[in-house]
Amino acid sequence: MDLIIDGWFHERGALWPGQAMSLKVEEVVYHGRSKYQDILFFKSTNHGMVLVLDGVIQVTEHDEHSYQEMIAQIPLMAHGNPKKVLVIGGGDGGVLREIARHDSVEEIVICEIDEDVINYSKKYLPSLAVGYSDPRVTVKVMDGSIFMSENPGTFDVIITDSSDPIGPASVLFEAPFYRGMYDALAPGGVICTQGECMWLHKDLIKPLVDAVKKFCTSVEYAFTTIPTYPSGQIGFILGTKDKETCKTPVKVDRKMEETLKYYNKEVHEAAFVLPSFARRAIFE
Ligand code: SAM
Repeated sequence: MDLIIDGWFHERGALWPGQAMSLKVEEVVYHGRSKYQDILFFKSTNHGMVLVLDGVIQVTEHDEHSYQEMIAQIPLMAHGNPKKVLVIGGGDGGVLREIARHDSVEEIVICEIDEDVINYSKKYLPSLAVGYSDPRVTVKVMDGSIFMSENPGTFDVIITDSSDPIGPASVLFEAPFYRGMYDALAPGGVICTQGECMWLHKDLIKPLVDAVKKFCTSVEYAFTTIPTYPSGQIGFILGTKDKETCKTPVKVDRKMEETLKYYNKEVHEAAFVLPSFARRAIFE
């Protein structure tokens, strides 16, 4: 396994040239190849269990909450009363876990292309995969873009928890996919997608935001901090149908906030405040 050298996993990738994230490995618990990608689970010395797809860190138990809570709670709280929610990707189950906290939700559909990610996450990441045990969840093993085209005008919130735009997820970073999400939204609906890193990917984010502006009522960018993603930060692209903004939560649930580690109303609002370089690069 050439990603692990002298007991350290090194995450090198074309999307973050000249830098690498390294984690000390205690034990490799699974390594194999699915129909779509290379899958590695290892126990790290200080960051808990780690899921790696095609050499790229997807989840560490140490900091996953900052990503899962923010990609899910921002659109759900911005919507205020979500009943039908769709997840594209997200095979580890962490986003399902976050959606299941909402009593208003009646139906959760997850559309993950790779069944192996689901099955091995259930085995090695139970604190995330617990999301699958909610009776409101239906699992579709298929390409998310195809599923959406079959379900127009249906969902209150669509969350795309995808890997990076290389391999099976590249289609999820293209304007037609966003148009498909918009068409699958019910009126008042909200889209929230993994929006890459403002330090590294302005050239990818800007054209996507410009393309989505052509049909969404509003397009905004929020971010979270997360130590084990490239440059310690990842963003979310939020789009709406017949709704002015996602910056202010319509629903505030202080009781739920007590059970969360990262998200709260104040963090929600602050997540949309961008440093000047990013605001200029993405929105001007
Ligand atoms: N949180 C992670 C991150 O930002 O690095 C991503 C989570 S990972 C579980 C993303 C999942 O998206 C993978 O399991 C992958 O199989 C899935 N995926 C990639 N392309 C897809 C597609 N076209 N349709 C549905 N799922 C897809």
